[in-house]
Amino acid sequence: MNSIVLFKNNLRINDNPALFHASESENKILPVYIHDDINIKKQLGSASRYWLYNALISLNKSLNFNLSFYRGDTIDILMKIIKKYEISDIYCEQPFLKNDIILFDQLKLKLSQLNVKFNIHNCTLLWSPQYILKKDNTPYKVFTPFYRKGCLEKIKPDLPVGVPNKLNFLPKDDSEIDDLKLLDKFRWYDKMDSQWDISENSAVKILDSFLESSIYNYKKGRDFPASNDTSKLSPYIRFGLISVNKIWYALDRLNFDRNIAHYKSELGWREFSYYLLYHFSFMDTKNLQTKFDDFNWENSSEKFDAWKKGETGYPIVDAAMRELWETGYIHNRMRMVTASFLVKNLLVDWRLGESWFWDCLFDADYASNIAGWQWTAGTGADAAPYFRIFNPILQGEKFDSEGKYTLKYIPQLKDVPLKYLQKPWEFSSNLDYANRIVDLKDSRDNALYQYSLIK
Ligand SMILES: Cc1cc2nc3c(=O)[nH]c(=O)nc-3n(C[C@H](O)[C@H](O)[C@H](O)COP(=O)(O)OP(=O)(O)OC[C@H]3O[C@@H](n4cnc5c(N)ncnc54)[C@H](O)[C@@H]3O)c2cc1C
Repeated sequence: MNSIVLFKNNLRINDNPALFHASESENKILPVYIHDDINIKKQLGSASRYWLYNALISLNKSLNFNLSFYRGDTIDILMKIIKKYEISDIYCEQPFLKNDIILFDQLKLKLSQLNVKFNIHNCTLLWSPQYILKKDNTPYKVFTPFYRKGCLEKIKPDLPVGVPNKLNFLPKDDSEIDDLKLLDKFRWYDKMDSQWDISENSAVKILDSFLESSIYNYKKGRDFPASNDTSKLSPYIRFGLISVNKIWYALDRLNFDRNIAHYKSELGWREFSYYLLYHFSFMDTKNLQTKFDDFNWENSSEKFDAWKKGETGYPIVDAAMRELWETGYIHNRMRMVTASFLVKNLLVDWRLGESWFWDCLFDADYASNIAGWQWTAGTGADAAPYFRIFNPILQGEKFDSEGKYTLKYIPQLKDVPLKYLQKPWEFSSNLDYANRIVDLKDSRDNALYQYSLIK
């Protein structure tokens, strides 16, 4: 008999428990990727599809070109392959998001009727959310106790399983990656090819070089967008080109210092995001704090467009939005600044910002993106209070004090003296740069007024 290894979000061969356990059996393996455009309600954005395309090419190479590609309904497709290849076992990652959980429950039922064994393994998270509860058996809503008591004090994450010792493949059919139709016709992504090396090997190299130097300045350096003090591993983690368990235990091998603990806690925020979406799955479209359901969003399409294009007139916000456009990535502090500006100064609903990030970020992650937006908007768990409104001028002056980041993305401000860089209108009204679309003080006061109405 034979096995299918169904790849979803963990596109790697090293420390992939589903692939590893399949390889331990005597069965031959058919590795399969299904781009399900029927059951998955929130289809991937353009940037994610580009990343996925390249990640699948890399995975296919690692699997000696034995990966089969399908597009359509996961269950229908699997039923056909099961018949064709005499499949007795399916191996796959454990799902943690609502949509996948529902799909897998249906699949499990079908497979049991056919006597096919469904083996699922946690390939995605350090701690499975279902086991982490407070003493009263309810889920945590605050990060620190979740992470410290719920995770760190409970059990250690699984040790990485490594690379399979042997892989005996079934001959695959003639499916091609282009059958998945992942890439947009307009080739906006050509400029990205030189910026990102999308492969499992590259993820390991990035981790190794980060752990050699930048990690030791992580706690302090991670707030400065012009520095290279964060790992930029997020898209690799999102598509599982590297496992979080591998990263965790690589950190454990270093001499303990507070930077390492801090980096681990950021991985903890990713766990927390999945945890929240697991226990409060409605928060994918609804405010976790329901009082915000009555909030009066202005949702001006002109302001939203200016934000998307990086033409708000506030240099640090515009630099961040242009970083997204140019690279498919935004530095974490800049995500907070630009998200706060959209939700609070422009009074645009966080769900609209979330969907723009979903379309444009290479690391667009269902859980981290929603949790990040709800956190910044003040509507989520353990969130920044709504009344804490980032001041983009001060944020720019503090975290980009030499203007390197700002000028990298808005070079037309190069002749503006540094002390005016974040408020160029005070220097000249005659610059080749957008006018401010809102007044900072007025928009802040208005946001606080709107908030007072729902408090
Ligand atoms: C509005 C908003 C939207 C966001 N959307 C996403 C998203 O779609 N995908 C995504 O991976 N992250 C998202 N984040 C979290 C964070 O900004 C990115 O994970 C981080 O900037 C990635 O850069 P890095 O790999 O250099 O991070 P590092 O600082 O090197 O951190 C290491 C890893 O920890 C995880 N991580 C770090 N910070 C967070 C965090 N706050 N929440 C969850 N995980 C975290 C990421 O996997 C990251 O790669 C969002 C944050 C905000 C405020």
